[in-house]
Parts: sequence; structure tokens; C-alpha cells
Amino acid sequence: MKQIDYQGFELGPIRPPSEAYSLLVRINRGCGWNKCRFCGFYRDTPFSPRPAEDIMKDIDLIKEWLDIFQGNAPGRDPRDDGDREACYMAYHWLQAGLRNVFFQDANSILMQPQGLLRVLDHLNGLFPQIRRITSYARSDTINRIPLKYLKAYREKKLNRFHIGLETGNDHILKLMNKGVTKQAQIEAGIKAMSAGIEINEFYMPGMGGREYARASALDTADVMNQVNPDFIRIRSMALSDKLEMYEDYEKGILTRPNDIETIHEIRLFIESLGDITSVVDSDHILNILLELKGKMPQDKPKMLALIDKFLDLPEDTQNIFRLGRRLNIMGELSDLTVPSRVDRVKAIMDQSEIDRSNIDTVCDQLMVRAIPI
Ligand code: SF4
Repeated sequence: MKQIDYQGFELGPIRPPSEAYSLLVRINRGCGWNKCRFCGFYRDTPFSPRPAEDIMKDIDLIKEWLDIFQGNAPGRDPRDDGDREACYMAYHWLQAGLRNVFFQDANSILMQPQGLLRVLDHLNGLFPQIRRITSYARSDTINRIPLKYLKAYREKKLNRFHIGLETGNDHILKLMNKGVTKQAQIEAGIKAMSAGIEINEFYMPGMGGREYARASALDTADVMNQVNPDFIRIRSMALSDKLEMYEDYEKGILTRPNDIETIHEIRLFIESLGDITSVVDSDHILNILLELKGKMPQDKPKMLALIDKFLDLPEDTQNIFRLGRRLNIMGELSDLTVPSRVDRVKAIMDQSEIDRSNIDTVCDQLMVRAIPI
């Protein structure tokens, strides 16, 4: 793996929506796996590890800027030092209360444990008020790390993993080239939780096309029922023609489900969740029903009722809401009772000649535009 000399403070390309107020610390560049056929986030970012010293220099820069903002050091112009991003990041984190940290890019736990522990010590030494440090984590990597290190990470506040489970179905996992099996995902989830690490499992409805929607919902619910993660986060699939997996849809191996079919898949998934205590959230921009959230098991009827409310709407009203969501004119189902929003969507449908014959294609295009693939 190519080692790159220190080039000043660095930020990676993405973070989960729930980390909007966190300090972002780049542990490595890109993804060490980078072979998932549905993911293009790091295609242009060759994987390279960052030495602990470089990461600690980034953390020192954040401390310097915080000292300036808090009046503990004389000010300086960030343009003089080439650390404009560190300046912005420190300011943003200060406004957010200096509580949470997110490690970038993908799967930062690939870093050798001794190095990662040094980084954690440095971070906690400078900022003892930190409450939570979060990282993306691949199941395969979690399974290879000795439990004692996972426990040591948790003790040093690296206490939350975002795991891209995507689906519990082995056939789809193979099509995706995810590099893990259902069983490995179950073991990783249970292992991380046994180390005291809070876990978020991401579920990607739509990934198995119409063909495997039912199997994906049932197998994914089975994983969740065995792991009982702290959070289940839903992130509907967006299919860009730039992604390898697009070929499967071109060749007819899979058929792209529309929003309504995806909602049916989500309904079956939630219905199949057992007596677990996870929080379900649907806060990703790609989801139609952003308000679909609740604590299991008590909120399961409420979540199913919300889905049924949408599914029971007349098709034309569903289409208004779908387009309203994709254009960010609508956020919740109750927006259908706001005449100005409904009229705006209807006007766009008229002007752009969008109707039931082409709404699926339009929504697909808007979904792809919404995220950096
Ligand atoms: S989905 Fe995750 S593991 Fe797969 S290539 Fe993308 S970043 Fe890497």
C-alpha cells in the first residue's frame, strides 16, 4: 500500500447523516476493500493508510484553532498556513459542542491496533470532554480483530460502529461482491456488542431487485433479530449507471423496484422484526418515508401503520408525494395537506410532463442526483 507524505489537514468525502455535528478525523484514505459493485464512493480514492503521526498532526491543528476561537491563543489567517479546512472544522465542531467525533474514511479499524490506540489516546488527551467516537466498520474486519482490542477501543471512547450490513441474503451479498456472508455479519454484530460497542446496522432495501425483495427483507430481519443492534438505519438503494451492479439490471438479472415496491419490502422487514430493542431510523435522504422511526418492539405497530397510510393513498397522491420528496418540497406525509406544496409539485409535473408512465424513471434519476456516487 502506498504511503503518502503529510499534506496538511485532510477530510474524506463522506460521513453518515447522523455525524453532521461531529469532528471528522481522517484515519485512512478510501476503502481497503473497494470492491462492492453497488458502491462508487471511493472509486477515485485509492486506498492508503495514514500514519498515526499524521493523524495526530491533524488533531493538533484542530486544537490550535479551537484555542484561537476560545481566546487562548492569538489569531492567524488560515490562508497563511494552508489549513483552512482545519479552521472550518474546528469552528463547526465548537458550534456543535465538541462532543462527538467521526473517523473517516471507510473502515478506519483497518489501522493496526497499536496505531489506532495511540491516536485515541492523543485525541482523548487533548479533548477529554469527548463523549462518543464513531467509525464505519466492515463485518469482516471486526471478525479479525481480537476482542481485547475492541474492548480497548471502547474504553477509549471509540464506542460506536456503523456497519454496512445492506442485506442478510447471501445471494444478494454475492451479487454485490460485499465480501461477507450473512453468518459473518451476525458474528461481527454480536462480537462488537459484546465488547460494549454500540452498533448501527444499515439496511438497503431495493438492493435485490424485485426478484429478491422478499428474501432480502426476511434474511435481513433474521440478522437483526439475532444481533439486536442498537440502531437499524434504512437507506434505500439508488442505482447509478456508473456502478457495476447496474449491469445486472441491464441484463435483466435483477429488476429495479419502484418506491412503492421498496416500501412493501420495508414493511415486510419491519413486520418480521421480533422481540428486539433496536431503534429503527429512516433519516437518509434517499428514503421516501423519513418519518418512519421508532423503538422496537413497542413502536412496531406505529411504524407499520405509517407505511400502510402511505400504501393506502390513491396512486396519483402517492406520486405527488414521491416527487415532492425527491425534489425536497415535501418531508412528511402531512405535507400532502399543505396546498402550496401540493400545488408546487403538481405544477412541476404539468410543466415537465411527469405522470404515472414516467414517474419511476424521474424518481430514479433524482435519487442518483441526491448522492455523490
Ligand atoms: S460499501 Fe463500504 S466496504 Fe463496500 S466498497 Fe463501499 S465503502 Fe467499501
